[in-house]
Amino acid sequence: MGSCASALGREDKISKMASVKEMLIENIVKEESSPQNKVTIVGCGAVGMACAISILLKGLTDELALIDVMEDKLKGEMMDLQHGSLFFSTPKIISGKDSRVSVNSKIIIITAGARQQEGESRLELVQRNVNILKIIIPDIVKNSPNCKLLVVSNPVDILTYVTWKLSGLPQNRVIGSGTNLDSARFRFLIGSRLGVNPTSCHGWIIGEHGDSSVPVWSGVNIAGVSLKNLQPTLGTDEDSENWKTVHRQVVESAYEVIKLKGYTSWAIGLSVADLVRTMMNNLRRVHPVSTMIKHDVQQCC
Ligand code: NAD
Repeated sequence: MGSCASALGREDKISKMASVKEMLIENIVKEESSPQNKVTIVGCGAVGMACAISILLKGLTDELALIDVMEDKLKGEMMDLQHGSLFFSTPKIISGKDSRVSVNSKIIIITAGARQQEGESRLELVQRNVNILKIIIPDIVKNSPNCKLLVVSNPVDILTYVTWKLSGLPQNRVIGSGTNLDSARFRFLIGSRLGVNPTSCHGWIIGEHGDSSVPVWSGVNIAGVSLKNLQPTLGTDEDSENWKTVHRQVVESAYEVIKLKGYTSWAIGLSVADLVRTMMNNLRRVHPVSTMIKHDVQQCC
């Protein structure tokens, strides 16, 4: 009885002593509690995690939140990234099954959902992924009413429209990754043919992401030199150099990579991080994305 009381007294004494942290740090001004540039990624599969590492390595966010329904995998991914904190400049990485972890996000990236299996088209994923969006979007928007939504899940153009409808947000705050990746693949392939770095090869793939995308051959240029001016048949069936195959390779890229490694991840992750960089810093760059092209007059003005 006596020793129990003295143990309690000791604990009481210890709890009153200042902690190492309290002795080390005294806050002179109140710490800012809400993040300024928070990014949330919903869906932490291959694509979500490639987006995460690309965004972290570019230093685009002060808080990264990860959301997924697979709790163990999610926690493992979060811990693995946290353990790399020494090597990037994002002080806070959190995760959870519940959308409350996304509160106060500036940008929310949607990569949740089914992905293509070998030989499956993007359009075949539509119903499964619409059902997932119906669960995710309303809660996400409730927690971050001022966020911008960036949809990556496929079929991305259709799902961007569905997300916009479910979100109730203005059109300009819901975009899809569109043909940003297709255009990056196009520029890489043009660069490979010419032996020129892709950053110096300009060209656009527009329209719907994937199988029905459209290459704009008239715009392909290197340092302002139009390839179509050098070779007027460029991209047509009459072209002896068969540049048309470059677009076919773009379209077949995902199928080929999926056949070889099971999924695509790095290129989409990097291209999403590039979009996030533009959005976060309002860089006024031009990207091919999924967006509503029919604006009503009121919203344009
Ligand atoms: P994946 O299967 O590796 O990951 C999907 C993740 O979503 C899984 O971890 C799963 O648990 C999670 N998920 C499912 N339902 C959820 C819910 N309700 N809430 C939160 N998380 C949920 O798939 P992936 O390879 O990462 O691909 C993801 C999506 O991205 C696919 O639709 C794929 O087709 C698409 N994708 C798009 C592009 C593009 O250019 N737009 C490129 C590549 C892949």
